[in-house]
Amino acid sequence: MKTAYDSIMQIAKRPDIVFELGEGSWLIDSQGNRYLDFIQGWAVNTLGHCPPEITEALTKQATRLINASPAFYNGPMVECADMLVKHSVFDQVFFANSGAEANEGAIKLARKWGKVNKNGAYKFITFNGAFHGRTLTTMAASGKAAFAPMFEPKTPGFTKVDYNDLAAVEAAIDDQTVAIMLEPIQGEAGVIPAEKAFMQGLRKLADEHNLLLVVDEVQTGVGRTGHMFGYEAFGIEPDVMTLGKGLGGGVPISALLAKSSCCVFEPGEQGGTYNGNPLMTSVALAILTRLAEPDFMPMVNARSEQLTKELDALSAKFGLGKVRGMGLILALDTGTLDANVISAKCMERRVLINAPQTHALRFVPALNLTEAEITQMVSTLDEVMTEMTAA
Ligand SMILES: *Cc1c(COP(=O)(O)O)cnc(C)c1O
Repeated sequence: MKTAYDSIMQIAKRPDIVFELGEGSWLIDSQGNRYLDFIQGWAVNTLGHCPPEITEALTKQATRLINASPAFYNGPMVECADMLVKHSVFDQVFFANSGAEANEGAIKLARKWGKVNKNGAYKFITFNGAFHGRTLTTMAASGKAAFAPMFEPKTPGFTKVDYNDLAAVEAAIDDQTVAIMLEPIQGEAGVIPAEKAFMQGLRKLADEHNLLLVVDEVQTGVGRTGHMFGYEAFGIEPDVMTLGKGLGGGVPISALLAKSSCCVFEPGEQGGTYNGNPLMTSVALAILTRLAEPDFMPMVNARSEQLTKELDALSAKFGLGKVRGMGLILALDTGTLDANVISAKCMERRVLINAPQTHALRFVPALNLTEAEITQMVSTLDEVMTEMTAA
């Protein structure tokens, strides 16, 4: 049957809603209906929809310079890289356009490092449940069961072990291993945090075996955990980090950051048409500038506490499972209730919540949302769960 959307490739089941406007925590459709958004493009819109920080950076930069060429320096590119270096443990930055592309870059960088420093070692240890992107190589790095049979043959060189199982990591290390790569909190897997001892153990293993520790912070970076970067919560320093999603707050930009000892690319080995594009780097700079203000992280952590408390109360009321995560990347274990049904019923009530797993709801709202917005979302969940448990 022909529909109004026939010219769009069907890569996801989409509802028949067309969104036209966004403001803060709210999305407004073509009929004028307002939706409370706890998905925010999957943890992308750091400051909510159309925040003044982004619209000002975009409009200002759009009249100055949109694209010079990745072969030239430009002001926002340099300022943004300086800002990232200043607020992290890394020394240099390569900008790209998507999380997957930043992760591809990290894998290439580690392979080059292995060639220079470790007899051509090239293998990565990655984790069951991991999500690193949708290019062939990042799909190979991912530990999503559904990806395994797709688009074979994929890139070789990824050994997968269980998350939070240090002994399994150690057992998987061989002469060809060059790096361990993980998300500090597995997002797509349903917000599963790494244990602190595990992360510290990985750092130790990496040091003992001369491996790079690569953190994929595409989802956890840029304030999402209540820290500027997620690794800060674990008391370790990674060698390499990737950022995406929240770095652009809604515009496409990602970054690969590394300690100077790992910055082994030579001219011709890495690049990309839009890397360091001033329009996008000016936006990332504006977001980082806002997040670095002293009031910001305490505000994120206050909202995190509130959301955790309200979800805990809900869990107690309906006999659900635990709240997990950190900052404003939280999940509620829905116990016996189907999270997809909850998500659909919330959508009918114009509240957007994502269900990454059958028994997990994920909350990744704007980091600057209000107390009232949290309370409103939780009261909708209460309504939906009341209805589901009565039936
Ligand atoms: C979303 C995500 C990616 C992929 O980012 P894209 O911009 O979609 O390519 C990679 N890693 C993690 C942890 C993510 O959450």
